[in-house]
Amino acid sequence: MRQSHLFVTTLREAPAEAETRSHQLLLRAGYIRQLAAGVYTYMPLGRKVLRNIETIVRQEMEASGAQEVLMPSLQPAELWRQSERYEVYGKELMKLQDRHEREFVLGPTHEEVVTELVRGEINSYRRLPVTVYQIQTKFRDERRPRSGLLRGREFLMKDAYSFDAGWEGLDLTYQTMYSAYERIFDRCGLKYRAVQANAGAIGGKGQNHEFMALSEIGEDTLAVCTLCGYAANLEQAEVRRGTARSAQDCSGMPAPEKFHTPDQKTIQQLEQESGIRTEEIIKTIIYTSGSSAFAVLVRGDHEVNELKVQQYLGCGEIALAEHDRVQEVAGVGAGYVGPAGLSVQILVDAAIADMAAAVTGAGEKDYHLRGVVPGRDFPLTHVGDFRSAAPGDVCPHCGGGGLEFHQGIEVGHVFKLGTVYSEKLGAGYLDTDGRSQPVVMGCYGIGISRLLSAVAEQNNDEQGLSWPLALAPYTVHILLMSAKDTEQRELAEAMYVQLTSLGIDTLLDDRDERAGVKFKDAGLIGIPVALVVGKSAAEQKVEYMDRRAGSKEIVDIGEAVLRVS
Ligand code: ATP
Ligand code: MG
Ligand code: MG
Ligand code: MG
Repeated sequence: MRQSHLFVTTLREAPAEAETRSHQLLLRAGYIRQLAAGVYTYMPLGRKVLRNIETIVRQEMEASGAQEVLMPSLQPAELWRQSERYEVYGKELMKLQDRHEREFVLGPTHEEVVTELVRGEINSYRRLPVTVYQIQTKFRDERRPRSGLLRGREFLMKDAYSFDAGWEGLDLTYQTMYSAYERIFDRCGLKYRAVQANAGAIGGKGQNHEFMALSEIGEDTLAVCTLCGYAANLEQAEVRRGTARSAQDCSGMPAPEKFHTPDQKTIQQLEQESGIRTEEIIKTIIYTSGSSAFAVLVRGDHEVNELKVQQYLGCGEIALAEHDRVQEVAGVGAGYVGPAGLSVQILVDAAIADMAAAVTGAGEKDYHLRGVVPGRDFPLTHVGDFRSAAPGDVCPHCGGGGLEFHQGIEVGHVFKLGTVYSEKLGAGYLDTDGRSQPVVMGCYGIGISRLLSAVAEQNNDEQGLSWPLALAPYTVHILLMSAKDTEQRELAEAMYVQLTSLGIDTLLDDRDERAGVKFKDAGLIGIPVALVVGKSAAEQKVEYMDRRAGSKEIVDIGEAVLRVS
């Protein structure tokens, strides 16, 4: 591409409302232009970066067995009513009517449409599993559009949806997608972290992870363990975390005693007998399979095993937890589900429950320990009042490392949906016995346009943007210092032709501008390699500038071509 023809204008200053570095630079370097709040045009340079991201995403999706489709943005409101999200989604949902006053929405996401699609196409286990994806414009009337492409109201998303015959299948598919996401973000040169996340508006009870680009300007806070690699969105860490308790608080407590547990119960039996429904028990009941150790948070003041839960709490201080709307009573101790209902509970995540289970004899055939004190009898430091985690807190997963906090930009989200949508929208299949079952779904999103901004946010310097090679709009930028100098012009042209014929995407700054202007623009645009054709053109040499390494070197033109090919 000859820069004299490139549809781009660089700006000396960014508009005042652009606060983040990526937003300022994408505007100044002419990658994007705003039409309305949260609504942008991608200029040729921006479109090229977007394409590079799309190519990587498509390659990795196809390699994972996902098939590309393109679903409509215009979606009947009726579908959203069926899924019960028409109201729930709130003001973010863009609503409109056609000429017959039929109601539509502009798709903020496609669970409804894709489930409706699969309902019509698939009716037998033989056709499963299947995963489809698309790269498409989404609409969300965000309360506060922000930072250019980071939070748009019209934005580009890759969304994928998987359909399996059962949860085991979904587990595999989820893992495949998770790995594809790691490859995508690695290839994009992004510094990121995958974290455990909350279900949020998308619904479903399934496991989910967010992929977070690490950046000071990120809206999300991540809690990351320095030791074991545990990482969670703070929203999530908050639910699991409690105050660290020291063992001596419990030093006066009697030693644990064995008691017989001839008839261990399943959690379902427990629910039935105690009259406490799962929804009341907690969003996630964490209990280790094969043992009766579990974590549970009970709302209200339930009568349990003749004692109130509070009295089971050993040190007393572990009793009441305030969380969200309700006052909750947290049980703590060894996991035993006795004949009369709940006995003791562990209020942490699965790994701690495992540890506790090992110490307390959970899973032993016919006895358990009663009166086990967390922190004294096993290394549990995370029970209590459910304040949010703070930096330096002990990791709720390993109990050993300290928590660090980082800010992150959510660039991807993978989600085990299960059967929420297939049940509501009636997407079933016949299993091997001819019985009808709901398909088990997963959904997987990447904010393509947000990713562009996130990479820009991580890759810039005082001159401007500085793209990783894989995303750069061009691989090489030839800077012709003096367009009037015949020798220079001919050499620049010859290199441009040669590089282009080698398939190297090259931008030639052939404009009749001063050298200073060209350097400034090149600095803003951020192509990884610049070849400066100046005075040394007479000796068939150019200056080779590696933007990211910050190095400059005069080299023969042959050598320059070799380096970039
Ligand atoms: P956020 O928490 O930032 O609002 P989300 O959780 O609502 O995002 P998802 O529904 O998980 O978003 O959508 C999948 C992906 O789409 C997100 O991980 C993000 O990368 C991208 N995305 C979501 N909203 C926007 C937006 N307004 N502008 C640009 N990208 C977005
Ligand atoms: Mg959102
Ligand atoms: Mg989110
Ligand atoms: Mg999300």
